[in-house]
Amino acid sequence: MRTGKKRNPSFRTGVQIGVFALVMILALVKWLKDIGVTIPLLPEISLHAICPFGGVVTVYELLATGSFLPKLHSAAFILMALGLVVALFFGPLFCGYACPLGSYQEWIGKLGRKLFPKRYGKLIPPGLDRALRYLRYVVLAMVVYQTAVIGKLVFQEVDPYYALFNFMTGEVALSAFAVLFGVTVLSLFVERPWCKYFCPYGALLGLFNLIRIFPVRRKASTCIHCKKCDKACPMQIEVSTSGAVRDHQCISCYRCVSGNACPVDDTVTISSVKEAETHEA
Ligand code: SF4
Ligand code: SF4
Repeated sequence: MRTGKKRNPSFRTGVQIGVFALVMILALVKWLKDIGVTIPLLPEISLHAICPFGGVVTVYELLATGSFLPKLHSAAFILMALGLVVALFFGPLFCGYACPLGSYQEWIGKLGRKLFPKRYGKLIPPGLDRALRYLRYVVLAMVVYQTAVIGKLVFQEVDPYYALFNFMTGEVALSAFAVLFGVTVLSLFVERPWCKYFCPYGALLGLFNLIRIFPVRRKASTCIHCKKCDKACPMQIEVSTSGAVRDHQCISCYRCVSGNACPVDDTVTISSVKEAETHEA
């Protein structure tokens, strides 16, 4: 699969808005049902049923007892499996296009850029930023371990995604609201701070960048070194010095590719090793 044609950047924004609105509607319908108001034709689906990370943390429970963790649903498991298969081919496409919490941080970040143009992106010193980017693997290990030991959804207590969409239910712990508040404030100064430093699901999907079949690739022979790809990258990855982007933090947003940020056709593309070799020959 090669790219390079002019694409419409609003496609990604449209997907992000669509998924965000869908999750918000599903959460509202479920809450209304819980307080006795039924909306005809709209299904009642719990947020736990459509959270792929729920599928990850229930793997141990499923292997050990043959059943899902309380509140979880087979749909979360199917979504998790789907997310992993997609990641094997294209990396964390879920993060770049679908995750409502990722989109939320991005939109808050746009506001932050306008409000604090001199401070935006400069709050965390580069050395600390580099080290913090590995913190999410610690979070992932802790959440999976704690969930397996305790046998319930421990992450819900601090999950900003759960707080963002379930704030009206009275089920959200104060700690989750505090984390959501922290993520919101930090997003005014740092691009996607939850994704970069803390998200356990992003950590898991990010590992697929090391082996994905279709990575982002830069063709050195046509690159004009304008660094527009670097400037466009929300995760500050240096695409302009990479061959294939294998950075564990890539979120597959494709903002860097030719037709989006890169001004030269067929220079930053999404392609397999075989396609890249054919193209370079
Ligand atoms: S890293 Fe986490 S919060 Fe960020 S987009 Fe991916 S799943 Fe969502
Ligand atoms: S801009 Fe390119 S390198 Fe950066 S996260 Fe998006 S797809 Fe990955």
